[in-house]
Amino acid sequence: MTASATGSARFLIVGPQGSGKGTQGVLVAEAFGVPQVATGDIFRANVAGGTELGKRVQAIIEAGDLVPDALTSELVRDRLEQADAAQGFLLDGYPRNRGQVDDLAAFLTARGEALDAVIELDVPRRESIARLHDRAVQQGRTDDTEEVIANRLAIYERETAPILDVYREHGLVVKIDGVGTLDEVTQRIFEGLATRGLVAGAAA
Ligand code: ADP
Repeated sequence: MTASATGSARFLIVGPQGSGKGTQGVLVAEAFGVPQVATGDIFRANVAGGTELGKRVQAIIEAGDLVPDALTSELVRDRLEQADAAQGFLLDGYPRNRGQVDDLAAFLTARGEALDAVIELDVPRRESIARLHDRAVQQGRTDDTEEVIANRLAIYERETAPILDVYREHGLVVKIDGVGTLDEVTQRIFEGLATRGLVAGAAA
């Protein structure tokens, strides 16, 4: 399957917890025929499966802290080296701080690749907190307690939101209003990407 009109579709989706980036990320990745790679999902699957990696990260995740950069970046590199990510990928939850931004840039540069767009999902704090509470009730995630949510949001604001400035300087950020129905937001993302010539399924 072809990724986009420009031949590749290397995307990041960035937004606070409760912004809906997981759901939107899956839809965008499917449309462009690229794998969605969500570091949080990979970590949780390893915890659930009781793997070595899972044992190393379980306590960190349950506290809502960040897994060390070296470990996280290695995990992402291994995933992006797989054949299905050759034409593109959508990364959800990575990079999350400056160190990871640098790790990803080094990896892509060494491969002669570059990001095509960084999708910023903009959701006011009050809205994202309300959504997180709903999700806590529905999904029962162990890191969705009041205290851990507060820690994850604080880390987002302190470490993750600033990475958007770095990508803005590179002209990569497509800022999307994340308030609306699921379909409305998806539509806005596709329109935003289209303004950059990134159209799902178009011939290379
Ligand atoms: P959320 O964005 O709602 O906090 P995620 O599923 O993206 O949830 O991440 C869950 C947890 O997994 C994080 O709180 C953190 O412990 C760990 N994690 C995920 N991605 C990263 C990353 N890029 N760097 C470090 N830790 C990460």
